[in-house]
Amino acid sequence: MNPTIPYALPLIDEEEIQEVVDALKSNWLSKGPKTVEFEKRFAAYAGSEYAVGLNSCTAGLHLSLLAAGVGPGDEVITTPYTFVATANTIIHAGAKPVFVDIDPRTLNIDAARIVEKITPRTKAVIPVHFAGFPCDMDAIMAIARTYNLIVIEDAAHAVYTQHNGRMIGSIGDITCFSFYATKNLVTGEGGMVTTNNAELADRIRVMGLHGMSKNAWNRYSDKGSWFYEVEYPGFKYNMTDIQAAMGLRQLDKLNMMQEIRAQYADRYNRALSSLEGLILPHDDSRHRHAWHLYVIRLQPGFLTIDRARFIEELKERGIGTSVHFIPVHLHPYYRSLGFRPGDYPQAESVYEGAVSLPLYPKMTVEQADRVIDAVTEVYRKYAKTFVEHR
Ligand SMILES: *Cc1c(COP(=O)(O)O)cnc(C)c1O
Repeated sequence: MNPTIPYALPLIDEEEIQEVVDALKSNWLSKGPKTVEFEKRFAAYAGSEYAVGLNSCTAGLHLSLLAAGVGPGDEVITTPYTFVATANTIIHAGAKPVFVDIDPRTLNIDAARIVEKITPRTKAVIPVHFAGFPCDMDAIMAIARTYNLIVIEDAAHAVYTQHNGRMIGSIGDITCFSFYATKNLVTGEGGMVTTNNAELADRIRVMGLHGMSKNAWNRYSDKGSWFYEVEYPGFKYNMTDIQAAMGLRQLDKLNMMQEIRAQYADRYNRALSSLEGLILPHDDSRHRHAWHLYVIRLQPGFLTIDRARFIEELKERGIGTSVHFIPVHLHPYYRSLGFRPGDYPQAESVYEGAVSLPLYPKMTVEQADRVIDAVTEVYRKYAKTFVEHR
C-alpha cells in the first residue's frame, strides 16, 4: 500500500533552514532584530499599523482581552465551533464566555444572533474565521459600534483571508494570528497580533514581556540601558528570533503556498460535488478563502456507516484526517460551568458529520487525487441506495 498521506505537514525549504541558522549564529536567540523585521513586514502584509510578535495565538487572545480591559464580571461573545483556546483565554481573563451558535452554511458565528446575547456586561466579541472563510465582518463591526463592544478576531485560520477585499488583520480592533505547526504560515509555535490602535499595541507589547517598560532588545542593543520599570505583572509571551527567522521566509512564499491550497480545494470541490448528500465547504467569490481546512460533512441518511467508521475506512486507505472541532461547550470543563449538549444545535450537528481532509502545499497532485479516490470509494461503498433512502 502507498504510504499514508498525513493530515497536515509544514512546507519547510532551505530558505527557512538558512535563516534559522543565521539567527542561531547572530547571538539573538530571543526577541531581536528578526522579530522586529517580521512584525514590520507582517503589519504591512495584513494592512495594519502595528503588529506584535508573540509565542502563540493563544497568548495573543489572552493579552488582547486584558489590553481591552476585559476582566471579572464581564462577558465575551464567541462561537462554540472553535478550538478551545478561544474560550479558554476568556476564562484566563476572568470573564465569562457567551456562545452564539453558528450559521450552518459558513460554520462561522451567526452574526444575526449576536444581539440577542448582548447584556450590560458584554465587553467584547471574538469572531473566529473558521477554516479561513471570513465571518460577516460588516455586520459584526456594526453591532460592535452600536453596543460599544471591542472586536478581537481569532484569525488562527485566516492569515490570507479577505472580507470584501479587505485583509483580515485590518478590520477589527485587534486580530490574533497563529503560526502553529499545522497552520498556513508556520514558525513551530508562534503568533502575531495586529491593530491600528497604538495604545492597544503598546499595552500588548509590554504585557507580553513581564510588563517591562523596555524589553531586552532595547536594553541590550547599543542604544539601550540597564534600567527598566515594571508597569504591570506581565507574562512571558514574546516571540523569539528563531521563530521570526522561519516566519520571514514563510511570508516570502505565502502567496505561492496559498495558490496551491486554492488549487487543491478547487480540485476537491469538482471531484466530490457528485457525491449525493455530501456537504462541501462554503465559499463566496466576494471574499478570499485561506483554505486552512477543507471540511466535508456527512449527513444522516446517506451512508450506512457513521463518521467514526468513515474516518477508519479512510485511514485503512492511507488517508490521514482530523475533526474540526469538538464544540467547546461539550468539553468536561465547560459542562462543569453549566453548558449542556443541545445548547448549540447547529454546532453540534455540524460536528457530528465533519471530517477534515488533508490540504497543504506540500501535498502533490497525485496525493490530492488519492484523497479524492479514497473518499469517493468509501462514500460509494457505503451509500444507501436512492430507493432505500426514500
Ligand atoms: C490553532 C488555533 C488557536 C491557537 O493557536 P496557537 O498559536 O496554537 O495558540 C486558536 N484558535 C483557533 C481557531 C485555532 O485553530
